[in-house]
Amino acid sequence: MPTRRSAWMTEDLDQLRGLARTFFEKEAVPHQERWAAQKQVDRGFWHKAGELGLLCLSIPEEYGGGGGTFAHEAVLLEEQARCGDSAWGNSVHSGIVAHYLASYGTEEQKRRWLPKMASGEYVGAIAMSEPGGGSDLQNIRTRALRHGDEYVISGSKTFITNGAQADLVVVVAKTDPSQGATGISLLVVETADAPGFRRGRVLDKIGLKGQDTAELFFDDVRVPADNLLGTGEGQGFIQLMQQLPQERLIIAVASIAGIEAAVALTLDYVKDRTAFGRELIKFQNTRFTLAECATEARVTRAFVDECVEAHLAGELDVPTAAMAKWWSTERLCRVVDECVQLFGGYGYMTEYPIARAWADARVQKIYGGTNEIMKEIIARSL
Ligand SMILES: Cc1cc2nc3c(=O)[nH]c(=O)nc-3n(C[C@H](O)[C@H](O)[C@H](O)COP(=O)(O)OP(=O)(O)OC[C@H]3O[C@@H](n4cnc5c(N)ncnc54)[C@H](O)[C@@H]3O)c2cc1C
Repeated sequence: MPTRRSAWMTEDLDQLRGLARTFFEKEAVPHQERWAAQKQVDRGFWHKAGELGLLCLSIPEEYGGGGGTFAHEAVLLEEQARCGDSAWGNSVHSGIVAHYLASYGTEEQKRRWLPKMASGEYVGAIAMSEPGGGSDLQNIRTRALRHGDEYVISGSKTFITNGAQADLVVVVAKTDPSQGATGISLLVVETADAPGFRRGRVLDKIGLKGQDTAELFFDDVRVPADNLLGTGEGQGFIQLMQQLPQERLIIAVASIAGIEAAVALTLDYVKDRTAFGRELIKFQNTRFTLAECATEARVTRAFVDECVEAHLAGELDVPTAAMAKWWSTERLCRVVDECVQLFGGYGYMTEYPIARAWADARVQKIYGGTNEIMKEIIARSL
């Protein structure tokens, strides 16, 4: 499918794209079935990505990162989506967790944790959602209460991406349970040295089969008071609100890349497969369906690119990021569903990438804030 070159692309990013494409084709594509069966990527994959400098691309070099911008993360995300990999949780690790540390960590915290995340020695996770609710963050139950120079964390989290492998978890907890949003703080737990920390099940999902989405339990886990992110307690909710636009843009970028990949895959298929003595592409229904899908891809690409440019300029606001998230994920689900239809029965077979793309797409409307919550955010801004 003819796609336009995004205006934010540069020669430097072209080189990164080439490196990322080769990396995914060589190191991810051949292992996807095995990763799905074991419900996680190989730990060595993180190390290989670290050795190639693909982790923490937008974190400053002085902390071991790539010294790039969000555009570097976007290129990596696009290439991951293009090759059909949904197992590797780098968007959470590099695109989200590392940015909480970089934005709110002290100099000492950044030097302690970011180089390990950039090398792959540490895998990062963020634990917001709880069994009792994910959308209503103000009412989380996990507590982090100060005792001397420590915090004692108790509670449970669920649906945590990278949960089975995480060495560092940013935990969203109430430091003042009597308060709503202003009682929330973010604390870092290093899982290797945290008695009372326990991983639960790696959850069975309808898609993202190779991603270790897990339950985490905190039974009076003690962390040094220095592991608080920010200059004081009660800043967690604001920190989340500041970082969520990037998380939502990450989902939008992956979604548009997924849309483009699905249309390209389907075009190849319908030019090859025949029915009633002619290629599927010759049927008007096939042509019209793909014409619609290609148009939706183009429109979505234009909007997501506009958001990437705004974010690079430091101007992406919360409602616009919410628009990008709900719009692109809805389009992704619709387009991939149409593509599955054009594959016929093969579109339902998990050995076909389009079937896996269909199952992987569904959650995009749910996580990162559900699309209903996105519409609430947008509506409030009107
Ligand atoms: C594969 C996967 C990976 C995930 N990774 C992470 C992770 O790394 N870290 C993390 O913290 N979380 C993660 N999540 C959790 C995810 O963010 C939550 O599932 C999501 O925020 C929704 O929360 P919930 O599941 O509790 O649904 P609920 O909040 O119970 O919502 C249920 C339904 O009610 C609707 N609803 C709720 N409130 C409103 C309202 N005010 N107005 C209208 N409708 C409303 C919702 O839109 C939804 O349709 C992940 C989830 C999945 C499935």
